[in-house]
Amino acid sequence: MSIQEINLELLKRLQKPKRRKKGERRKRTPRQKLVKEILKVWSQIVRKRAAGGLCEYCTMRPVQNGHHIIPRGRSYHYGHHALENGCGLCAYCHKWEGPHSDDLDKVAAFSKWVKTVYLPKKGIEYEALKMKCRSRTKYTVFDLDFILKDLKKDLQSM
Ligand SMILES: [Zn+2]
Repeated sequence: MSIQEINLELLKRLQKPKRRKKGERRKRTPRQKLVKEILKVWSQIVRKRAAGGLCEYCTMRPVQNGHHIIPRGRSYHYGHHALENGCGLCAYCHKWEGPHSDDLDKVAAFSKWVKTVYLPKKGIEYEALKMKCRSRTKYTVFDLDFILKDLKKDLQSM
């Protein structure tokens, strides 16, 4: 192959997005696996503690989703695993009546309910929670492993 041909080949490879083969799973780093597992157990706890197994917002439909009050965002923070940052919602409220609704009035109403009804009932201050979630604590894989074990213990003792 000439240099030009090699260059052309390289260019082609760069342009082609790598496709995963059918059935091939994306490889996750140990850290990503831990975060995924933490979120799973966190959600299980948040849903399990909802009174009567009902959505904490509408109190009518069965609880289905664990909602993060302070959004998870891109980088891992305290709010990812903090149980005080969770609220058990039915899928309907989660998507249509509450935090992720297209209707901004509904989003605002949900936010108001969280700040004035839901969190105060649990003795949690919204601003303090937000501060804690915004602090740039670095969690090592070791920390995450510890957090996961703690959450699993919490879940078992419910
Ligand atoms: Zn609901």
